[in-house]
Amino acid sequence: MKERWKSVFGMTGRKTQEKENMPVVELISVGTELLLGDIVNTNAAYLSRQCAALGLSCFYQSVVGDNAQRLRAVLAQALERSDIVILSGGLGPTADDLTKETAAALMGMPLVMDEHSLERIVHIFESRGLEMTENNKKQALVPQGALVLDNENGTAPGLIMCRDKKTVVLLPGPPGELCPMFEKSVRPYLERQGAGILYSRTVKICGMGESKVASMVQELIEGQSNPTVAPYAKIGEVHLRVTARARDKAEAAGMAAPVVEALVEKFGDRVYTTDPDVTLEEAVTGLLKENGWKLSTAESCTGGMLGARMTAVAGVSEVYKGGFITYSNKAKRKFLGVKKETLQRFGAVSQETALEMAQGAADTAKTEVAVSITGIAGPGGGTAEKPVGLVYIGCSVQKHVTVREYRFDGNRSIVRESAVSAALTLVRQCMLEWLAAQKEEAHQ
Ligand code: ATP
Repeated sequence: MKERWKSVFGMTGRKTQEKENMPVVELISVGTELLLGDIVNTNAAYLSRQCAALGLSCFYQSVVGDNAQRLRAVLAQALERSDIVILSGGLGPTADDLTKETAAALMGMPLVMDEHSLERIVHIFESRGLEMTENNKKQALVPQGALVLDNENGTAPGLIMCRDKKTVVLLPGPPGELCPMFEKSVRPYLERQGAGILYSRTVKICGMGESKVASMVQELIEGQSNPTVAPYAKIGEVHLRVTARARDKAEAAGMAAPVVEALVEKFGDRVYTTDPDVTLEEAVTGLLKENGWKLSTAESCTGGMLGARMTAVAGVSEVYKGGFITYSNKAKRKFLGVKKETLQRFGAVSQETALEMAQGAADTAKTEVAVSITGIAGPGGGTAEKPVGLVYIGCSVQKHVTVREYRFDGNRSIVRESAVSAALTLVRQCMLEWLAAQKEEAHQ
């Protein structure tokens, strides 16, 4: 397998060279409100995603208040280490809006009146029946030689300044102005810088912890340059994002494909999809559909959360018959036929109860597949023998029942979510195992 990793990544050495020539972008969000936590920095999240999609590396992001001295220092540092600096906010008409003045001074570009922008601002005020102040005129001042970007949703124009191979982009703070301006004017500008594109695929793995997955791909992560492989832990799942940078989508897709293939080979049927839009419950639904099977659920501590995840899948009615929420012992007996002796002898949170719950659901709902969850979600109710986080999950496939014990960490909500993900993983695994056993039998 080591050789395989090498060959998969060896072929990308040429791209690494190219990456070195790619412009590096940096983001600066301006506004004291951001520092105080009064507003969430959605502009930075938006701009980061946009730059990533354009294949631009972004190594730094900063937030700075409405203070000219500190803004100047942050911008000067950004210009030293990055090729393109995108600033958002502080283009308004008030005294604390200092971005344009500070950036222009640092770039050595004096401010001059832009008649076109002034006309637009005058027109906006006239059409709204508002009086225009001298302050508003200030918004039509632009650094000499800058590219002026029309603001179709506000008064402050955007600006692109270039000097000594460095580019500074100024965008208004309100997202309703910034996003359309980025899309209309800045993205095409950046595309012309030859940034290429960034293309990602996601290998989704279930039934394996993050550290195990990470250790299995460590060599690959360490040696990566292009494509890169990054693990993301979700509750009950680990996603490996494979990202390739290239001139166009076809080239990037071609670079990512062998890495995705190698990961699928390495993790086998733990990989439930390589499609970023497919969820674990959708993969389970797909498998049920393929085999013409129906599913029922029997839930105790998760109180219907598994049923909710299943019913979030469009078209699931074809395969999901329904679920039993049996929280009390009485309900477990009445609706699922769990034996009184089982509950008395082993308790509601036990392997035996989980098994009878799965059997009961399969029999009552008449489904080929049934899954049960019973556990201690906490914070109370745990004992030394049965601590908080202990969960039993049962799965019946064609009357063949498997029960597994789990010990989840975290608060009540995390334990319950972990139990649901583990149940989906177990259903999938039991169905695959049953199918493989049938296949083997047929061959004998
Ligand atoms: P204006 O002309 O409206 O004053 P501006 O360019 O000067 O625009 P700011 O004054 O810094 O921008 O911010 C105006 C509003 O835009 C803020 O009150 C906030 O609602 C929103 N905003 C600013 N920066 C961000 C950001 N980084 N993320 C999300 N929203 C932001």
